[in-house]
Amino acid sequence: MNQIQDIYQRPLRDLRISVTDQCNFRCKYCMPAEIFGSDYPFLKKEEILTFNEIERLAKAFAGIGVKKLRITGGEPLLRPDMPKLIEKLIKINGIEDIGLTTNGVFLMKQSEALYHAGLRRLNISLDSIDDTLFQKMNGRGISHRSVLKGIDKAKDLGFSIKINMVVQKGINDSQILPMANYFKERGITLRFIEFMDVGNHNGWNWEKVVSMNNILESLRTQFELEPLEENYYGEVAKRYQYKGTSTEIGFISSVSESFCSSCTRARISADGNLYTCLFASKGFNLKKLLKSNLMDESLLKEVSDIWRSRDDRYSDLRKERASEKRKIEMSFIGG
Ligand code: SAM
Ligand code: SF4
Ligand code: SF4
Repeated sequence: MNQIQDIYQRPLRDLRISVTDQCNFRCKYCMPAEIFGSDYPFLKKEEILTFNEIERLAKAFAGIGVKKLRITGGEPLLRPDMPKLIEKLIKINGIEDIGLTTNGVFLMKQSEALYHAGLRRLNISLDSIDDTLFQKMNGRGISHRSVLKGIDKAKDLGFSIKINMVVQKGINDSQILPMANYFKERGITLRFIEFMDVGNHNGWNWEKVVSMNNILESLRTQFELEPLEENYYGEVAKRYQYKGTSTEIGFISSVSESFCSSCTRARISADGNLYTCLFASKGFNLKKLLKSNLMDESLLKEVSDIWRSRDDRYSDLRKERASEKRKIEMSFIGG
């Protein structure tokens, strides 16, 4: 197999595929309702990658070293027949791991079929265990009842689950301890994500970020935590364990302690553009290549060339860089 590296010797290992740019939530930090209203120009059906196109792309990426796939969006479970896509992707040679990131609302209905299709890992986003705050944060007044039930059901089915909580100062930092208590009791990993300046509309500034160190400080008022070793090269989360248990807690500190130097991730947006960084402003149109009846070897060569010339390290440069540059929305590129 053809293992390729970018200009900073980072291999290509992970591929995040956005299967839709639509979502049933309007989280302010991702798809604020004022911008993503009924007149927002979401992608048309024919612009979105088909399952066959996604499969073809995933095969090409596996051919140059991708081992892990993550299905994301928008809200991926809005796309009909997701289990069918999972079944296709799971059969690809070289793919060792497939995960799906979801807001969890549709898990009660879909988790069983996803499990039977072979999916074993779910990242479920939940920013508050307080329902009033949760309803406010998702911008649609949707209760977390279905999400919490969906989490329990997925756990009973045997899924490996991680809960993702984006922490924003003055918005939901009061939820750090209640969330930790709730998921510790259930033996489920909770990961705190630092609020990032993704897209162009989320009103980000440094004051709204609660750093990993601040979160740790607040957790340590109640819990004894032990740091864990990195599981593998390029692991994004810094992991800890509650002392005396096997329950983990993690931090994705992309703002306070960026990890670009070991970033092995590429992203494909719902309309088939390849982005080599979450903060990229320019993508490479793979859908066009697929439509041009290009042979799979040529597709592989195109993708390899793109990765070889990759020089992204946005988070490392965040402090120096002017934040005015136009970027791609998170719901579009996939988190
Ligand atoms: N809709 C699904 C969900 O919310 O899990 C999948 C897509 S969402 C874009 C993927 C992840 O990105 C979620 O965990 C979400 O909380 C995170 N996210 C979105 N905007 C963010 C931001 N500005 N800073 C940090 N994380 C963000
Ligand atoms: Fe939707 Fe996920 Fe973005 Fe929230 S974070 S608006 S659930 S895509
Ligand atoms: Fe990777 Fe870009 Fe994030 Fe750095 S900023 S870790 S290069 S996605």
